[in-house]
Amino acid sequence: MPKADLTELAARLEAHLGDPHDPTSPMPFDQILDHDEREEFPYAFVNLLQRWGVHEYVIPKAQGGKAGDVEVGFNLLRLIARRDPTSATALMLTSLSFMPAWIAGTDEQKQYVVDLMKQGNKLAWGLSERHHGSDVLGNEMRAEKVDGGYLLTGEKWLIGNATVADGVSVFARTDPKGGPAGYSIFLVEKRNTPAGAVEELPNERLHGLRALDMSGIRLDGVFVPDEARLGHQGQGLEIALKSAQVARTTIGSMALAAVDTALRVTLDFTEQREIFGKKVSDIPYSRRQLTEVFADLMIADAVSLGAVRSLQVVPEQTSVWSSVAKYFVPTLLERSMAQLNIVLGARLYLRAHPHYGIYQKMLRDLLVAIFADGNTVVNLKNIALQLDGLLGTAAQDTVARAAADQRVPQLYGIDRELPLYRPWDQELFSRGKDDAVLAAPGSLDRLRELAAEAKGEEQVWLLRAVEVAAGLLGRAEAIHRRAGELRAGLGREYGQSAELFDLAKQYSALHATAACLHTFVHSHAALDDPLPSGALLLLQLERLHRLFSPHESVTDSAVVDEVMRVLRHLHRENRLFSYWQFPLATRTGVRHAQS
Ligand SMILES: Cc1cc2nc3c(=O)[nH]c(=O)nc-3n(C[C@H](O)[C@H](O)[C@H](O)COP(=O)(O)OP(=O)(O)OC[C@H]3O[C@@H](n4cnc5c(N)ncnc54)[C@H](O)[C@@H]3O)c2cc1C
Repeated sequence: MPKADLTELAARLEAHLGDPHDPTSPMPFDQILDHDEREEFPYAFVNLLQRWGVHEYVIPKAQGGKAGDVEVGFNLLRLIARRDPTSATALMLTSLSFMPAWIAGTDEQKQYVVDLMKQGNKLAWGLSERHHGSDVLGNEMRAEKVDGGYLLTGEKWLIGNATVADGVSVFARTDPKGGPAGYSIFLVEKRNTPAGAVEELPNERLHGLRALDMSGIRLDGVFVPDEARLGHQGQGLEIALKSAQVARTTIGSMALAAVDTALRVTLDFTEQREIFGKKVSDIPYSRRQLTEVFADLMIADAVSLGAVRSLQVVPEQTSVWSSVAKYFVPTLLERSMAQLNIVLGARLYLRAHPHYGIYQKMLRDLLVAIFADGNTVVNLKNIALQLDGLLGTAAQDTVARAAADQRVPQLYGIDRELPLYRPWDQELFSRGKDDAVLAAPGSLDRLRELAAEAKGEEQVWLLRAVEVAAGLLGRAEAIHRRAGELRAGLGREYGQSAELFDLAKQYSALHATAACLHTFVHSHAALDDPLPSGALLLLQLERLHRLFSPHESVTDSAVVDEVMRVLRHLHRENRLFSYWQFPLATRTGVRHAQS
């Protein structure tokens, strides 16, 4: 979708939902917090969002929906989650549960499930089991073949929406021996089973997303017809992993949204509150903390921008992109929140405060992005197992690098149109390709050119950014060498070693460095004032550099002051803290930020 259209769409959704600080608006923070306190599923908000038509943006155009680009759904979800990650999750769960049908269903099945969604039906994704979380191939729910269908027996647990859902996409063992080709996926519609056949498990009380329906289902010989099987018999694991790639890429929207709101309410405070004769924002230490959190948010934004677009531009590589995004974005932003806690101080503890209660919710809710849809460790493992191939290609394969150079403007150019989303083209291994890292040297060259054209301090900052980015990217060789030494030293233990997982973390930091560079270089001309900013890029790179050298600085107070100017501009103009800078609903509510 063209940038101007997406911006207009975002503005319309914001206007529909109103100022969340205003208790009389349609989706205000105080009601959201009330639902959380009472742990009551947010039907009213989900309905409000469906009335607006949010769900249409995750339904493929071929089936009468409006989903052209994953980017659209991702950004709408993010705007919902900046108010209420619970409502956003409830909606996301339905669209995730549709993925198996989208990836592998027949046209009739897709249309059938789409019609269910259009009628407002809720869906759940039944993958996890009580004794089998990350080890998907241990799953015990079985589907026994009988005439005309299957009998499903077993339990699925920790399933979001399981009780409120009308249908559950269930991952079940069709070969008693299990194994990679031993599972299939079935759509179990509660209304098509005898009353009580789908036993709903008790609601689990949660730390975050407290209003979410978090339960499970138990089945005992429940019949589902052959037409309810999505994909071939035995294709379940492949479909589940491809669905997970989408979920892993998009769940970062929860973390981005949580930090957006947390930073916004913190700025509401620091821009007004004076202490020792100065605004908190103007105290050098606090100012640095605020700008560092903002820089983290923009790193995560750049990583997400590329990862979401990779689903359409390089679906054959999404195994790596989705795992990097899933590991890196929530891990980074969880740390940023801890930093922000210090800036907001005691007020973050005031649970019933009309302005800061929401901060605590964001602090709690962000964590879902860490473990849902494949936890951090699973994603690091996925990167680790492909590390040698990825670094080998980056070091030697000039053909792959040239091809990546061609594609990267579309991956990171915010104004570039995307090819049609074809989820079935996603692959489970990336065959040594990660265009972000492969094309990084090319974008570094382009940054040098932009620096040469820049003037004054901007030129100084960009030249420094080139130097810091080159240093970070140059680490690839050492990571590759260390991986080789580990393999030689550990033999069969290599794949499971903690050191290898650490190398996967370092690789993710290189990917993130590349994402910041590419976004600056390829979205440069399309960004709205006050972006692009050389100072912001430099601070982003310092944050990444500090993952390797925690106490080394590459910025000074002039850089921080300039980033603060950018941040203040976005805060004052009420725009999303993102390269997208969507205009947010006009603030009409009482601010309460000083008390
Ligand atoms: C709020 C919420 C919503 C959820 N929604 C759904 C849903 O809608 N549908 C659904 O199917 N599931 C859902 N789940 C389940 C969730 O996605 C987890 O996958 C599942 O609970 C397993 O979690 P786990 O990996 O932490 O646990 P386990 O598999 O028990 O793993 C325990 C720990 O072992 C370590 N570990 C795991 N794998 C590896 C590895 N390969 N290498 C090294 N260490 C490892 C990790 O530290 C992990 O935390 C939800 C859970 C929550 C809490």
